[in-house]
Amino acid sequence: MIRFLDLKKINEPYETAFQEKLKLVLNNGWYILGKELETFEKAFAEYNQTKYCIGVGNGFDALVLIFKGYIQLGKLQKDDEVIVPANTYIASILAILQADLVPVLVEPKLETYNVNPDLIPEKITHKTKAILAVHLYGQLAEMDRINEIADKHNLIIVEDCAQSHGAVENFNNFKSQIPNASNVTLSEVEEPLRAFAFSFYPGKNIGCLGDGGAITTNDSELAKVLFALRNYGSEQKYYNEYTGVNSRLDEIQASFLNLKLPNLNADNDKRRTIAKRYLAEIKNDKIILPFWDLSNNHVFHLFVIRTENREALQEYLTQNNIQTVIHYPIPPHKQKAFQEWNNLSFPITEKIHNEVLSLPISPVLTEAEVDFIIETLNQY
Ligand SMILES: *Cc1c(COP(=O)(O)O)cnc(C)c1O
Repeated sequence: MIRFLDLKKINEPYETAFQEKLKLVLNNGWYILGKELETFEKAFAEYNQTKYCIGVGNGFDALVLIFKGYIQLGKLQKDDEVIVPANTYIASILAILQADLVPVLVEPKLETYNVNPDLIPEKITHKTKAILAVHLYGQLAEMDRINEIADKHNLIIVEDCAQSHGAVENFNNFKSQIPNASNVTLSEVEEPLRAFAFSFYPGKNIGCLGDGGAITTNDSELAKVLFALRNYGSEQKYYNEYTGVNSRLDEIQASFLNLKLPNLNADNDKRRTIAKRYLAEIKNDKIILPFWDLSNNHVFHLFVIRTENREALQEYLTQNNIQTVIHYPIPPHKQKAFQEWNNLSFPITEKIHNEVLSLPISPVLTEAEVDFIIETLNQY
């Protein structure tokens, strides 16, 4: 069986190093808010060319805390509206609600699965205060267009980078440059009202052996609040300035991430190499391949194809020992949790959810496995 994502194989090369790190943490006898986290925060900020990184408990908390941070700073208020793609993992939308803000859903483009910037302006009201851009499946949303809209309407931009660690914009607009552009200096990327949320859930392009997350930003005011908010709103032990939460990236997980971060770019390259082969070699009229401009703006967290009779294709692949997954079978507005939205119509989002299927793609997939997947799809 070709596994959809073989996490054991992904983490295997680190096994000895993990054990050594674990011993180190045990010897230190210090498990929360220590040196490993500090080292990781510095490294991840540098990797993303931002001034600050704040390690938190998971990707969801990273999003919620960004919104709560802006509320604390008076830049957002309860019931403000936040534009968010209708086609996203539900965490993006739940995070907005968790911060007492109001999600306003916008349809995606069928080709990229990411939000359609043309449809954002008509959703903007006097209550709209932010856009949550989601870089779904690892491909950056059209940030040049989204930035223009945000500039014009004075909106905060939050970026959900839970699937896009290491993706880099391929245009020269520094304002929207996210992660890891080697040709940019910190002063050039200075962009106050902006923050990025990352998840290190095990299956992400860089994952913990458990839950983990981080926020990056160049906004020093926001960073100051976030360092406190994740730790009960306290800057100094037992003195609480804000009504914070407990959401910290622990020492053991941070130490594992410190070992994995140096390989993230190489891992992303391996994913892109596989994606290039899929795009060039899968030739089947029944299968619609994803759009990609071949730049590093895509890190292929997922390789998502579309087909009309998805169940038949998935069954065929299973019978050929190829495991696939659906990301995602039910759109957020059709979930039981959001009954008040169930009658809303987002036809493109619904079409995507009815037709998508994710093929195996990961740094540990072998060339022979990729050959077999392509061959099998071409014979379908
Ligand atoms: C994984 C994910 C999250 C949430 O991350 P967790 O660490 O699981 O809380 C948020 N948004 C998107 C798009 C994700 O894929």
